Formats: sequence, C-alpha cells, structure tokens
Amino acid sequence: MPTSVMWFRSDLRLQDNPALATAIDAGREDGVVPLFVIDDSLGTGNARSAYLSRLLGDFSHRIGGLHLVRGDPRTEVIRVAREVGADSVHVAAAFTPYGARRDASVERSLSTQGIRLERTGSPYAVAPGRVTKDDGSGHRVFTPYFRAWQEHGWRAPAPAVDGVHWIHPDGGTSIPKVSVPDGMRLPAYGEDAAHARWRQFVDEDVADYDSARDLPGPDRTSRMSVHLKWGTIHPRTMLADLAPLRSKGAQAHVRELAFREFYADVLHHRPDSAFGYYNRAYEQMAYDEPGEAFAAWKQGLTGIPIVDAGMRQLLAEGWMHNRVRMIVASFLVKDLHLEWHHGARHFMDHLVDGDLASNQHGWQWVAGSGTDASPYFRVFNPTTQGKTFDPDGEYVRRWVPELADIPAKQLHTPWELDPPPAGYPAPIVDHAEERIESLRRYDAVR
Ligand code: FAD
Repeated sequence: MPTSVMWFRSDLRLQDNPALATAIDAGREDGVVPLFVIDDSLGTGNARSAYLSRLLGDFSHRIGGLHLVRGDPRTEVIRVAREVGADSVHVAAAFTPYGARRDASVERSLSTQGIRLERTGSPYAVAPGRVTKDDGSGHRVFTPYFRAWQEHGWRAPAPAVDGVHWIHPDGGTSIPKVSVPDGMRLPAYGEDAAHARWRQFVDEDVADYDSARDLPGPDRTSRMSVHLKWGTIHPRTMLADLAPLRSKGAQAHVRELAFREFYADVLHHRPDSAFGYYNRAYEQMAYDEPGEAFAAWKQGLTGIPIVDAGMRQLLAEGWMHNRVRMIVASFLVKDLHLEWHHGARHFMDHLVDGDLASNQHGWQWVAGSGTDASPYFRVFNPTTQGKTFDPDGEYVRRWVPELADIPAKQLHTPWELDPPPAGYPAPIVDHAEERIESLRRYDAVR
C-alpha cells in the first residue's frame, strides 16, 4: 500500500477522528502524510488566524511535524499527493458552501491522476443533509429537526489513534506568526485543552446549565464553541459523555449542541443564506447605512451598559456570552436599523469561535429573517434584558469599568443618575422611539 495523505482542516485532533483512522489504514505500510493547507482565500479574522497559528504549533509538536503548505488547496493538495506518491487523500467532509465546492474541485483534479479523495465523517454528530422532512427537504424549524436528529442518532466515538507512522516530506512552509489583536486574550488551544475544559464543565457546571446558561455574570457555559470550531474535540465525544447524565442541565446542553448541527443543516440546504436573507422578504425592508452609531456599537460605546459590556468582551476575548450576542445583535438591527450582515461581519472578524453557519443564522434569527425566527415584532429592550439577566450587574461591572461603582439598581440605566457617571457616554438612541421606528419599517414590508 502506498502512502496516504491526511488533509487536516477543522479537525486537528487524534481522538475520535474517523478520517484519520481511515488514512492510517490506507497508509499502513508506507505511512501517512499529515497535511495542512494555509488557504488565504478563507480570510479568517485576526483573532481566528492568531488562534489557528498557535493551534497548528501545538498539533505539529504532538505529531512531530505537520506538513504545512500555503496556497490554493485546488493546486496544493494534488501537488503534495503526487510528490509523496499517495493514492488516497483523506478528509472529514466539509459542509460550508466554500468548503463543499473546494472539496468537489480537489476531488475532480485528484481523480485525473488516479488519486481518491475519501471523505469519512464530518464535524457533526449527524452530518448536514442526513435528517430531512418526509418530502426530502431540509427542516426550517428547530424542534422537529431536534426530534428527528435524536431519532437518527450517531455512532460511538472512534478510538484514539496511537503509534501512527507519520511521514514528514521535505519542503513546506513554517507556521505563520500571527500576532494577537491588541488587548485580546486568546482561549486555551489544543486537544488536551479541549478535553480538560470539557471535563471541568461536566464535573462542575453541566448539572445547573439549564438555569445558569442565560446569566453572563456567573459565566458558567461550557466555552466549548472554540474547540468545536477547530475540531479539537468531536461533538460525538461530548454527546457520549452527556448521555448517561440525567440532569436537566445535561439535556439542555444536548439541545444546544443540536442547534449547532441545525444551523449547519440549514446552511447546507440553503447555501445562499450565508450572506443573503433566509427569508427574502426582509431584503425589501428599509435599512440605514452604517455610520457613527455603528462605530460606537463596535467599540462598546453606545451608552447602553449591557450592549457595551458585550461588545467589549468580544474585543477582549474573541468570545461573547450567548444571551449578550442576542442583545447586541438585536440592538444593531432593531435600534440602529442596520442590516444584520454588518454585525455578522464584525462578529466574524473578532470571534475566535466564528462559525459561518451558527453566526449568520444566529444573526438572522435575531433579525427576524432566519429559521423559525424570533418574530420581528418582538424587539428586545436592552435595559430590561440587562436587569433580567445581569440583575446584580456582575457582567457589566466586569467589562465597563466606568460603571463599576454604580449600585445594581441604577447600573442598567446610568443616564438617570444626576450627575451621570464620568467618562461613560449618554445613550446614542432612545430605545422606545427606535422600537416604534423598527416596527414601522417592518409593517411596511409585511
Ligand atoms: P454553551 O452554552 O456551553 O453551548 C454548547 C455548545 O452548543 C456551543 O459551544 C455551541 O457549539 C452550541 N450552541 C450553543 N448555543 C448555540 C446557538 N444558539 N447556535 C448554535 N450553536 C449553539 N456560535 C458559534 O459557535 N460560532 C459563532 O460564530 C456564533 N455566532 C453567533 C452569533 C449570534 C448573533 C448569536 C445569537 C449566537 C451565535 N453563536 C455562535 C451561538 C452561541 O452564542 C455560541 O455557540 C455560544 O455562546 C458559545 O459558548 P459556549 O461554548 O459556552 O456555549
């Protein structure tokens, strides 16, 4: 058997990696080339590029050298495969619109040379497209998808691989040095970090997840999104650990993992919804052009404490709590009247866990134009949201130091203080007025 190539993408792990197991099997006599292509056309945000470069370093160290090349995978994969005399290239199937197109094109060019592209597994417990409605179309509503997803089920985690005969061809490029964006603290990276974080969450926090998950102050969600994004753990491994747990928290966590798979499924059926409106009626709505208010939103200087706290957390950690993602997104669309994709792009530029399906559909859900979307007329009041989900102001105080000494009662309405807090802006909009304006625009296209 000749050499095989394992083309790693968002699956930099040795445990529960069926594509890698297949590559090892195919290359059991001559070994496996661990390949990673730095594909500049993906244009990952600075935070993600910085994170990826560290993750590549960690993974390369673990396997004694990842073969890194830079360029277009359509030419680079076939070049490497030919150079090492491989007759198969192994991947986990990709489902983003770009990833699916790229792989189809790589597969075509490999086949002209008699080399197979073998897809084994995917980054999901249930691959997009597997669960459909009776008529074969994709689900548009989460709850029936969730039911069908659970009924479909998934395999047990694949065993960890050991003693792999890696081949390290000459040449290749070195891991790019990408500096961390100013003021940002990156999360821990690598397979060990993913498992350590997961164990800690299961041992300490999952039981109460259902009641604690909406509170950004105590901050007790799993923070596994970044590890799922880069595939340093497979969701199947997590689901296998959750299965024997009876707590409501564990069940709620399974449901959230299903949301990630639902959005990947939706994007698979509607690739146009990555950048276009899922519900096209919303294309016709009147929107404002981004200007000063957008700049204030990006910097966390809107004068609305919970919005500013969230936007500053994004810049500082490359992550934001889910409840606050919804609040800041609603503020952008319904208080500032901007199209959702302006905010989605800013998120993708800064999120370390930035994932096209979850991000674009998280935004569209808030904007009202997405799948079983929150109805457009339900406009989040950011002050009420702040008081409800950050009642003692723990979260706002952490991220907006100008408000650190304000008592909890006034923390979410600092503009009512006399004098107002020094160094903190007055609200850039009046929510009550913008709510009416937002509904007026909605009525016009309804
Ligand atoms: P936990 O609460 O511990 O949940 C566990 C896992 O379930 C998460 O890691 C994630 O994989 C999945 N999950 C949870 N909630 C959702 C959800 N609403 N949609 C999809 N998957 C979910 N998630 C991303 O991974 N990448 C993104 O780019 C992203 N952008 C978002 C943008 C907006 C506007 C909104 C409203 C949500 C977005 N989400 C995104 C979903 C969610 O906010 C994050 O997955 C979650 O905050 C990650 O933190 P955690 O790992 O502690 O989550």
